[in-house]
Amino acid sequence: MNATSLKLAGNNKVPSITIDYCLNSELPIGHKVDPNETALPPTAYKAELKKRQPALTSPSNFNLSEPEKELLRCHHKLGHVAIRRIQWLFRQGILATSNKERRLQAAAAKLTCGPLCTACQYAKQRRKTYPGTVKRVVPQEDGGCKANTLFPGQEIAIDIFYARPRGRLLNTFGKEAADQKYKGGCIFANCATSFLHIGLLSNVSGHNTTTVKEEFDKMCQNHGVVPQQFISDNGSEFVNSDFQAHLEQLQQSHRLAGVGAHHSNGVAERGILTIMSIARAMLHHAALHWPDVADVELWPLALLHAVDLLNKIPRTETGWSAYKLFTRKTYPYSKLREFHVWGCPVYVLDSHLANNKKLPRWQPRSGRHIYVGNSKTHSHSIPLVLSLDTGKITAQYHVV
Ligand SMILES: [Zn+2]
Repeated sequence: MNATSLKLAGNNKVPSITIDYCLNSELPIGHKVDPNETALPPTAYKAELKKRQPALTSPSNFNLSEPEKELLRCHHKLGHVAIRRIQWLFRQGILATSNKERRLQAAAAKLTCGPLCTACQYAKQRRKTYPGTVKRVVPQEDGGCKANTLFPGQEIAIDIFYARPRGRLLNTFGKEAADQKYKGGCIFANCATSFLHIGLLSNVSGHNTTTVKEEFDKMCQNHGVVPQQFISDNGSEFVNSDFQAHLEQLQQSHRLAGVGAHHSNGVAERGILTIMSIARAMLHHAALHWPDVADVELWPLALLHAVDLLNKIPRTETGWSAYKLFTRKTYPYSKLREFHVWGCPVYVLDSHLANNKKLPRWQPRSGRHIYVGNSKTHSHSIPLVLSLDTGKITAQYHVV
């Protein structure tokens, strides 16, 4: 892909990431590359930059100890979730495959101050509280949105989110017209188990919302869960005759939050915040490490991967994952090791060799693609890869 395909920088709606390259390259802080020419420095300059600036987890980085590097590696793999959560996973011993790794992760779990992740600094920074302001959670009110919901499907909070620029479709070559691309989506957050599901939307309307709701119902049916009640705000997508008729047909009840009372639908609102911050961190991480192919239009894939990870990673309070609680099916935690850093390069075996045919002797045996998550429709270990040549997203088995 050439430099014009990189759209993470140079867009008014998206924070520019050019500053990071400037920091790495010892240029003055705040230096911006002219967005009319190219979003990034020339290729030769980037190659020189890469020589001087190895990855944080590289063996040549002497500023971080080995346990700190291991902590960062797993943090990158598992969708930039909190360092404390990774340390908890290390203590459970579910991410180690050998005694050496176990010893390394045991040392990493004891670190009191974890290393900082560059992508997280870009993606998750928030306002500081004013001096003298203290925010405390009232223990009696904590988890009020989820009170009295005990079973999967008992209450499901739904909400609509938007994202700009529009995201590419998953079943095309990424060359569709702009008005056909994803404009946003609908989140379904189960109150009892914190299980999340998203449906992507090209047009946010009552009819399309009903379509993604039907997909959610089908997913629930596959897991033996019966959705009983939905909570939403007063958006026109939910307060229309189509959606209400659909709910009535399935004998599902609908509870509306008061106008402006976003806290009533807090589970869905919080879910949107969490998946957005994780997807943003993954997109920025990919852009920092492989700027040539970074594309913000891949956000639908990043969001789906973020939801998948959040559902599968066990929670520190219970030791159970949202997926396990919602589906009441076992999910071997060893499968967490099958996730890779979102946006990393993967090498896919040439289709001729995969089909037992021969290739000329000196021709490459594989092609370089981008890892964009694991397939939901295939086995857990089948990664989804984005072809750099065609732009097609496929599930591949013969990958490294
Ligand atoms: Zn991070």
